[in-house]
Amino acid sequence: MMLKKRIYQFMTNNFKFSAEDPQFRRVFLMNFVLPTLIFILLIFSWVSYAIALYPVLASNLAGLVLAGWVLYDFHQRHSVFATAIMIVAIEFFNLLSLFWFAGFNNYVLVWVIVIPVTAYFLLGRKIGRIVTIGFSVVVLIFIIWHYPVWKLQGYTLVGLFNLGFAYFGLVMITSYYELTMQEALTNLEKKNCELATVMMTDHLTGAYNRIKLDEMLASEITGSLKKRIILAVLICDIDYFKYVNDKFGHLFGDKILKDLVEVMHQTIRDSDICGRWGGEEFMIICPNTPLDRGIHLAEKLRRAVADYSRQLPEPVTISFGVAAFSPGDTDETLIKRADDALYLAKNQGRNRVEYL
Ligand code: GH3
Ligand code: MG
Ligand code: MG
Repeated sequence: MMLKKRIYQFMTNNFKFSAEDPQFRRVFLMNFVLPTLIFILLIFSWVSYAIALYPVLASNLAGLVLAGWVLYDFHQRHSVFATAIMIVAIEFFNLLSLFWFAGFNNYVLVWVIVIPVTAYFLLGRKIGRIVTIGFSVVVLIFIIWHYPVWKLQGYTLVGLFNLGFAYFGLVMITSYYELTMQEALTNLEKKNCELATVMMTDHLTGAYNRIKLDEMLASEITGSLKKRIILAVLICDIDYFKYVNDKFGHLFGDKILKDLVEVMHQTIRDSDICGRWGGEEFMIICPNTPLDRGIHLAEKLRRAVADYSRQLPEPVTISFGVAAFSPGDTDETLIKRADDALYLAKNQGRNRVEYL
């Protein structure tokens, strides 16, 4: 169990990447590929030393040191893309040097399959394709150039074609797999986005809902405390809305709610946050706004609603309670003050703005 945890710790760069991270599997793969690469290069170094192929030994040792350094650097800086590029580059140049120095007397060519797989998996479809095409062209030139020598060593044209077709098939499958993964990921991201929007939107009016308002208020309060700037909160409630519903029907009431949100959005600044607090109550959070500016905005909104309601069979008005964040406030005490101010506005005859 302990060993399993240790391995996981290594594979995730000391828990730096979690399973929710889109790069998680890639990081896992790189932490597998790099030690494997080091291990293979170690064996190849030993073999090339044993058979006195010193140029190959040199390139293997260079690759070995580079792979060790990249692994170390990856665990220091956690740079996924740079590490992926380095892994593919090490493989690329080690393979070419292997073909170059040892290509005449063994079947090292089968190693070509390593490049498309790692390039597509580690660098994604676009860069993976560029690397694969570049690599294929270099290897093809290499094969044509050395074909007379290879022929002597027993390579046949049919054998090379077989290798070529298998390589091409592998590239197509890998590329298609990457496309599938990419599409699945894009769809998931899109769906997550839609879900997040639904989660924070009031279905009827399209304004933010209570969940989002709570979240925004908490984060705005934290921001205000940090930057030492003031924040105003406005709560408004439609006057005698029950009567409007009773007289004109619920659908008419719904339309008024939607229209009011429209009117409010036209009146507030982009930085202000407007949402539906409850049935016919709305909250407007105004970052970087002192109390007097908050009252001013409430008054402006009250008048805008009065203007809008002139076209209605029955005038609709709203009442406002305004409060500004002061030291020692929590979101609850701030809301309570704005709510108390609203209560005051209702008691003092409605269609008015009060503050506390
Ligand atoms: P006050 O001036 O004191 O606020 O009076 P009011 O009638 O507006 O207050 P009350 O709380 O008694 O009634 C609120 C009404 O709001 C009752 C309810 O039918 C209506 N309401 C709440 N949500 C909706 C909604 O989504 N659509 C419609 N059409 N009406 C709603
Ligand atoms: Mg009301
Ligand atoms: Mg109400």
